[in-house]
Amino acid sequence: MEILKTIQLSKHFGGLKAVDKVDLSIQKGEIRALIGPNGSGKTTILNILSGIYQPTEGKILFKGMDITGKKPHILVEYGMARTFQNIRLFPELTVLQNVKVGQHCRTKSDLVSIIFGLSGARKEERHIEEKAMQVLEFVGLQDKRNRPAKSLPYGQQRLLELARALATEPELLLLDEPAAGLNPHETEVLDDLLIKIRNQGITLLLVEHDMNLVMGISDYITVLNFGAKIAQGTPEEIQNNPEVIEAYLGKEEVLQT
Ligand code: ADP
Ligand code: MG
Repeated sequence: MEILKTIQLSKHFGGLKAVDKVDLSIQKGEIRALIGPNGSGKTTILNILSGIYQPTEGKILFKGMDITGKKPHILVEYGMARTFQNIRLFPELTVLQNVKVGQHCRTKSDLVSIIFGLSGARKEERHIEEKAMQVLEFVGLQDKRNRPAKSLPYGQQRLLELARALATEPELLLLDEPAAGLNPHETEVLDDLLIKIRNQGITLLLVEHDMNLVMGISDYITVLNFGAKIAQGTPEEIQNNPEVIEAYLGKEEVLQT
């Protein structure tokens, strides 16, 4: 079953075609990587898909529904979650509170009640707490739950963002360079987690520069250059595609990571 489809998706910033007529078709349960040089439009696509930007042109179908132009919080309700290239946490809030902040789109309680546990709806509160603890355990941060987010080392902050996204119980998870800034051990941990997430039936759309990670876990890879899709295929097909090597894989910076 197709979980996400884009038709001629475009985003122009003035004269710049940041995303240019991109067609995507992602199957439920797939790990899809979106790769390409810096500035090729990867983050812009995630911003359109998650409702942060309105597309200039084109259409997005999620689980068969036209979601073009829907607001981010609505898309979270529909089952889409994301992380950001630049970490977006509330540094002064605890690890646990940061996860709970992500959950409020899924509940009737307001944000403040959720964070401080004031909601009158006991059952809902319990579910929020249990889910938050479950995802923290999943990423290995349960013992850090009462520490302020800012006190975590960088790699753990990235895992916290992942936990926060997972706490919304998504069907589709959009990840923007989750391995950026991680050391090799942390990248391995991430690799394992992504496989486990997929094994739970969650579909992944992964923007990433770490080619070891990308080639190791992706079912299919879509390649962008100057906003346009230039190739799509299995990791093996992409690694052997001359146009992709010319535009991206042959470049020094990629080979070094
Ligand atoms: P990538 O994530 O692949 O590195 P981006 O999607 O961030 O690339 O950017 C694609 C292009 O769009 C770049 O040229 C970038 O400078 C431009 N761009 C992105 N966001 C904006 C914006 N809000 N306003 C103007 N230009 C933007
Ligand atoms: Mg980017």
